[in-house]
Amino acid sequence: MAYIRLDSLAFEHNLNTISHHIASTIQSAPELALVLKDNAYGHGLTQIASLAHSWGIQSVFVKNYAEAMQIYELFPVITTLYGEVPYDAPSNIWHSIASLAELEAMLAWFPDKACGYSTQAMLKNSPQEVSKIPSIPYQRTIELKVNIGMNRNGLAADELDSALMLLERSPHIRLGGVFAHNGYGDNDDRGFMQSIQRFYAIKQRVLLWSERNHIPRPRFHSLSTSGALRFYAQQRELCKEWRLDSALFDDIVRIGIGAYGYHTSDVPLHIQLRPVASLWAKKISSLFLKKGERIGYGGVSKVRKDGVFSTYDVGYGDGLFRLSGSEGRLFCASGEEILPVMSMDNFSCQSEKKEICVFDDVRGWAQTFRTIPYVILTHLSPFLPRVVV
Ligand SMILES: *Cc1c(COP(=O)(O)O)cnc(C)c1O
Repeated sequence: MAYIRLDSLAFEHNLNTISHHIASTIQSAPELALVLKDNAYGHGLTQIASLAHSWGIQSVFVKNYAEAMQIYELFPVITTLYGEVPYDAPSNIWHSIASLAELEAMLAWFPDKACGYSTQAMLKNSPQEVSKIPSIPYQRTIELKVNIGMNRNGLAADELDSALMLLERSPHIRLGGVFAHNGYGDNDDRGFMQSIQRFYAIKQRVLLWSERNHIPRPRFHSLSTSGALRFYAQQRELCKEWRLDSALFDDIVRIGIGAYGYHTSDVPLHIQLRPVASLWAKKISSLFLKKGERIGYGGVSKVRKDGVFSTYDVGYGDGLFRLSGSEGRLFCASGEEILPVMSMDNFSCQSEKKEICVFDDVRGWAQTFRTIPYVILTHLSPFLPRVVV
């Protein structure tokens, strides 16, 4: 059966390299948090979580509650990026809130609604009155997402005060973090620094609020792989040029693709990362074919020279993109050409190997299918076995 090999040394190398790259220019480096969403970018959630735990990762980000429940015992903080979290979920599972409406809905579904305090009532009543709400054992921690220029999701800057006011008055919700997604990390664009400036302005407002209300300071974060690598490499110059106060640096960085061995930045990053996943397939059968004979559906591939051709047990049903013949040529890691048309469960190439490495770096696949490594990786079927080496 085909399987995915996970190179634990490459994974460690990536985390060490990224952590060194970020820490080398500043005194108190941000914590390195790992993004494990979408089955750890197709690598296998539980396998990568366990490697991350061994490395010392403390905070992770997952897609939803179902993913969080598979790994919550391994980390002090697991934040779900999407969907809901039940009020009685393990308390180290934090829930991100991406709009005012979502926050209001969350307040409304707490079981103490029976006490007569709806969101509206909380807004109308004084905090003293609201604090009379009998304490119940449930308290959920949230991370509030704010929009800083990507204009995709997150609270608008002018909704922040309403959100903070709701939080002040809710005994059941604790603000664990405030975060944003800088959508310009990959591009050489002013938008990157403008987004950072916007986030710093939001940070200042939240810090003032937390001091004024004696509410513990939440954590702040806004950078993913390319943004973090780029920002910390030249933070001194950037702080000067954009008048940023280094006291307001983020507390954590959210590293996704870099941990898995890739980055897609247009800006040179001067970092060597190693792909973690490689895909291996096993031979199903071999056949001697003569020049001119054809292989597979529709006979798209014609044999150019007599030789032995074999079929291997992985195809588009396992999450690979289907090679039809019009995309350009595609090769296995050891150089054998993958012959179109790819089938659901297998592909053919000229080889007699018992086991073949389909890829050990998905950049070639991404190029052939005019997409990015993220797409190739996240499509990998969760049913392929993962083997950590
Ligand atoms: C996916 C994601 C990341 C990670 O981005 P990379 O480019 O893979 O490092 C960070 N933050 C959020 C909110 C994300 O959704």
